[in-house]
Amino acid sequence: MSADPHCIFCKIVEGKIPSRKVYEDDEILAFHDINPWAPVHFLMVPKEHLPSLAQVEPRHAGLLGRMLALAPKLALQEGCRPYPEGGHRVVINTGAEGGQEVHHLHVHVMGGPRPWLKG
Ligand code: AMP
Ligand code: ZN
Repeated sequence: MSADPHCIFCKIVEGKIPSRKVYEDDEILAFHDINPWAPVHFLMVPKEHLPSLAQVEPRHAGLLGRMLALAPKLALQEGCRPYPEGGHRVVINTGAEGGQEVHHLHVHVMGGPRPWLKG
């Protein structure tokens, strides 16, 4: 699936909307959430437009595995303390009742000292 011209995260991937970049490779972009719930809060997105976890197919398994494996590394890079005292939360909101507002698959990674604003 190619970029969706109406999708805000596709525009971020294409550099048409600015973001504070955390990480980038050929298939993944990570950037700070504009409205953080926690001292560390960034989003990881596939560069490919995928609306949500509900559209994931077996061919995406490698990509999702690489995103999950990357999350703790980037969390440490962004200032989360190491497991087990520190750690981080990984959330993938899916669909309206799952709390998803932006329909381009994204992984929230949140961490840092509590209390948090939310979550
Ligand atoms: P969700 O409710 O899981 O769809 O989360 C969407 C997230 O995207 C929210 O936490 C927003 O704060 C975040 N967000 C929306 N627009 C931007 C943007 N332009 N740059 C960074 N984060 C954004
Ligand atoms: Zn998109």
